[in-house]
Amino acid sequence: MSLRIYNTLSRELEEFSPLQPGRVRMYVCGMTVYDLCHLGHARSMIAFDLVQRWLKASGLAVTYVRNITDIDDKIIRRAVENGETIRSLTDRMIDALHEDADALGIERPTHEPRATDYIPQMLSMIGTLEKKGLAYRAENGDVNYAVRKFPGYGKLSGKSIDELHAGERVAVLDGKDDPLDPVLWKSAKPSEPEEVKWASEFGPGRPGWHIECSAMACELLGETLDIHGGGEDLQFPHHENEIAQSEGATGKPLANYWMHNGFIVTDNEKMSKSLGNFFLIRDVLKKYDAETIRFFVVRAHYRRPLNYSDVHLDDARASLKRLYTSLDLVAPQALAAIDWNDPYAARFKAAMDEDFATPEAVAVLFDLAGEVNRTQSPAQAGLLKALGGCLNILQDDPKRFLRAGTTLAESAIQAQIDARAAAKAAKNFAEADRIRNDLLAQGIVLKDSPTGTTWAAAQ
Ligand SMILES: [Zn+2]
Repeated sequence: MSLRIYNTLSRELEEFSPLQPGRVRMYVCGMTVYDLCHLGHARSMIAFDLVQRWLKASGLAVTYVRNITDIDDKIIRRAVENGETIRSLTDRMIDALHEDADALGIERPTHEPRATDYIPQMLSMIGTLEKKGLAYRAENGDVNYAVRKFPGYGKLSGKSIDELHAGERVAVLDGKDDPLDPVLWKSAKPSEPEEVKWASEFGPGRPGWHIECSAMACELLGETLDIHGGGEDLQFPHHENEIAQSEGATGKPLANYWMHNGFIVTDNEKMSKSLGNFFLIRDVLKKYDAETIRFFVVRAHYRRPLNYSDVHLDDARASLKRLYTSLDLVAPQALAAIDWNDPYAARFKAAMDEDFATPEAVAVLFDLAGEVNRTQSPAQAGLLKALGGCLNILQDDPKRFLRAGTTLAESAIQAQIDARAAAKAAKNFAEADRIRNDLLAQGIVLKDSPTGTTWAAAQ
């Protein structure tokens, strides 16, 4: 095992050594299910899907937990707005999340715990923290964590509590000893639906967000994880609070390796719901096939920001076509296993073993594709396909991928059909022909009939 992982905690590349030889326990913070997933969520899911695939390809057994936050202010607000129950909203959004993730070829994690199924474990951890003097009951009925009582607070961010304060925009005390103290248990408000009130020794209420992950990770994976992951925006305060809660309760390290994926940015701004500059996975899938989206994410390093634009997705599609062209030229031989001593396979492995350096791994695929084009070797084409499989790309039928290759959304095709009909009505037949040929060049065949024009992907 010569895998090295960049550990956010030490800010260094470290040799990966799981607690139990041959077995990896990985926890990744998942979605708050009040709305549909956007491309930023897709990036995090794809990043850690790649991690777990590579760990498995390296011969390790992986238990991968990605939680679902199904209780939160935003969820309550949205359900009330919609006039539906929390459960009906979160069930619908979890179904939609699965649809999107499955469509993108992301493997389901081993466990996807819903926070509301782990309330007793959260309450038990809060009880432990209170006994240890790390939690206190505030006047407003909430139970808060006392960050100043935990000496390691700020270690993931590499900042002291006072430095973290400086970065805070608003210091709302709201019954807290320190504005950074996270709420562990929120006391029930009369205005809130009965569905979000649980009985407890602290009075009726519901859990805070951070305690959910601490309790679920401990219950499903044990007190110390091998890998804890999430988007880089979760480092502070979410992961800092998870560390304070879990380590405060158990006295053991929460995770040995902390991994954070970079943002997807549009016009240099982080893609997010609050900024309104997001693209839903299902909308992008109308325009681009799943493999192109996946390749767009995979060919950038997971820790770097990734710029989203149609130009970049078009380019990803064109690059992927070049790889498929080699597999179309030389039918790949099915391999029983990858020979990691092959020079291309060895280079691919070296790249992936260095903190999952997918850009370098993809570069190896292009070199190998060039070699396949020159040598016409079915064995090398087979290796190209098998290495692509480690990134979950290049598994489609090359002919289908190359020919079905349209990047046009249905609405865009329809707009072109309408424009052609208008050109015909204006007797501008040259323009009508230009539109037909233009679509054909993009893999779309038009069929005219007395009732109108229909289209199909070229066979
Ligand atoms: Zn979390």
